[in-house]
Amino acid sequence: STKLLEGKRGLIMGLANDKSIAWGIAQHCAAHGAELAFSYQGEALKKRVEPLAASLGSDIVLECDVSAEASLDALFDGLAKRWDRLDFIVHAIGFSDKEQLRGRYVDTTRDNFAMTMDISVFSFTAVVQRAARMMTEGGSALTLTYYGAERVMPHYNVMGVAKAALEASVRYLAEDLGKDGIRVNAISAGPIKTLAASGIGDFRYIMKWNELNSPLRRNVSQDEVGKSALYLLSDLGSGVTGEVHHVDAGYHVVGMKAVDAPDI
Ligand code: NAD
Repeated sequence: STKLLEGKRGLIMGLANDKSIAWGIAQHCAAHGAELAFSYQGEALKKRVEPLAASLGSDIVLECDVSAEASLDALFDGLAKRWDRLDFIVHAIGFSDKEQLRGRYVDTTRDNFAMTMDISVFSFTAVVQRAARMMTEGGSALTLTYYGAERVMPHYNVMGVAKAALEASVRYLAEDLGKDGIRVNAISAGPIKTLAASGIGDFRYIMKWNELNSPLRRNVSQDEVGKSALYLLSDLGSGVTGEVHHVDAGYHVVGMKAVDAPDI
């Protein structure tokens, strides 16, 4: 079978454990011949990420807190010591105070608004700034978003506002970097049970709702996000940039599910 990422080098950011969306993506990249590097946030995650990286043949595991410029610089300095070129990056990072991922958006605080935008939106731009300098033969950058950017979803609140800004950044970055052969896209994933998702109020109910109302009548898996990521990160996606690609069992197209309507 054809290996879609043979000879390609990619940095995966946002791996916390084997439930992470980043893990679904990393597995497909490795299976298709990519050489991978990983970044993790904080010492506590190091012992989780190292064995996962090793299982995919990677010994490049570097610390990075995306809220600090110095930490981002250190990550890319560390990466440049190992690699002279980068072909793709995956940004699977988001954060907000979980007390504000329930209740009303209108109650969002200034501090949490700024922090959520910094970690969940600006960090993608900050990463792409640095990655682009290493993408000397073109490249592909991918981030993760959610339908709460486009429509009001319960409890998503400030994160929905942040994802809307993230999706807009994908379009601006795509235009800026297209002339250097660098593509920038997002996957809008349906709800998946992960560490980050467990902070969202009524998440089990949201998953059930999606299962009952999406065209495929089920939820999506990390693995399915991984397969679509492979397309956007590899040459299969060579004509695609600035795109928000939904991997959500079709949920985003539904206005109202067909029902056996009573006579009225
Ligand atoms: P996850 O908890 O496995 O991953 C989130 C990651 O963000 C963690 O690895 C965490 O360490 C990292 N992170 C948070 N703050 C950071 C910081 N300051 N510096 C560096 N890293 C930081 O959860 P996930 O669901 O796999 O999340 C990955 C992405 O997918 C997020 O952007 C999330 O919003 C998005 N997403 C998730 C779902 C879902 O239902 N799980 C749906 C759509 C989009």
